[in-house]
Amino acid sequence: MYKLNKKIRDLEPYDPITGEMKIRLDANESCVNFPDDIMQEIHTAIDNISFNRYPDPNAEGVCKAFADYYGINPSNVVAGNGSDELISIICTSFLMKGQSVITVAPDFSMYRFYCSISELECKTVEKNDDLTIDVDKLIETVNNSNAGAVIFSNPCNPTSKGLDKEEVRRLIKSVDTLVVLDEAYMDFWDKSLLDEVCDYSNLIILRTASKAVGAAAIRLGFAVACETIIKAIKAVKSPYNVNTVSQEIGRIVYSHKEYLTKKRNYIVSQRQKLYNDVVELSDKYPQFFTVINGCSNFVFVKSTIGKELFEYLLSQGTAIRYMGEFIRITAGTDEENSTLIFQIEEFCKNSLKE
Ligand SMILES: *Cc1c(COP(=O)(O)O)cnc(C)c1O
Repeated sequence: MYKLNKKIRDLEPYDPITGEMKIRLDANESCVNFPDDIMQEIHTAIDNISFNRYPDPNAEGVCKAFADYYGINPSNVVAGNGSDELISIICTSFLMKGQSVITVAPDFSMYRFYCSISELECKTVEKNDDLTIDVDKLIETVNNSNAGAVIFSNPCNPTSKGLDKEEVRRLIKSVDTLVVLDEAYMDFWDKSLLDEVCDYSNLIILRTASKAVGAAAIRLGFAVACETIIKAIKAVKSPYNVNTVSQEIGRIVYSHKEYLTKKRNYIVSQRQKLYNDVVELSDKYPQFFTVINGCSNFVFVKSTIGKELFEYLLSQGTAIRYMGEFIRITAGTDEENSTLIFQIEEFCKNSLKE
């Protein structure tokens, strides 16, 4: 009788909220789809694909469009099937048996997941009480263990908080270990290290088309690093990791600079409005909510009624993310945000009546 090994025996497939949700504010996606003119361009590009042919293994067109958009050199870019795939590739290929990965907490849960699949020990440095990273403690931990990599998100998912450039630089310069800087939400903030990536031999920056760019459906992410690292990632990735449809759509979307900037600004203003609304709620119901200010496209809230509120909202067709003593809410359109706030108020009023 065949038995699954113990690292996968008890794993459950990823299980996002499914069903007919009217409002999705749980996955940090962009709240708007592409406009008609970009859709039209996408249709035309898809019509011209030779579906009998394999994709371009180097995804050159989309890497060039990405590099142009951010003002960097395409030779420092490699594309992945979402940045998730790149995290997985880094864990399986850039670390040796017996090395550990250093993470911070709270942070993106997938880092730990890919470590465990790769049979790597994952050491965690707890954040300060105000949810900021203790960079000194992080450096010390990296240098005092057999670390093969340190990985964290900036701005952070789920806290929404950012670490200043000078602090990130200090970390990179103070360790010989690979630093994986996940800038999935950096489009919403302005502290990216993209344009100085070539100054470091131990830095990989991850970016994604899933958040500010609004293309979560096509699974497209990028690693940006010095050419030695980029060549190594190209050598270890599966050859046709990004399909032609995604390459074509990505190429088109990243070429629309003005549109992407406008959309980013819109989402940031929606986040600010949502933040203000939740602050107002927490003024009315201080026993229920403490709001954390941040620099992403979502709002992180400490809540004493998180679980009950999460379940109530689901019953109303609204999905948010429930995380123990916290909830995380993605910024939506005006209509989505105001429906959400109305539903939360209803729940709070009813909770007080009981
Ligand atoms: C959403 C997210 C990603 C993006 O993952 P994709 O696989 O590119 O969709 C990466 N890192 C963090 C921290 C995220 O929140």
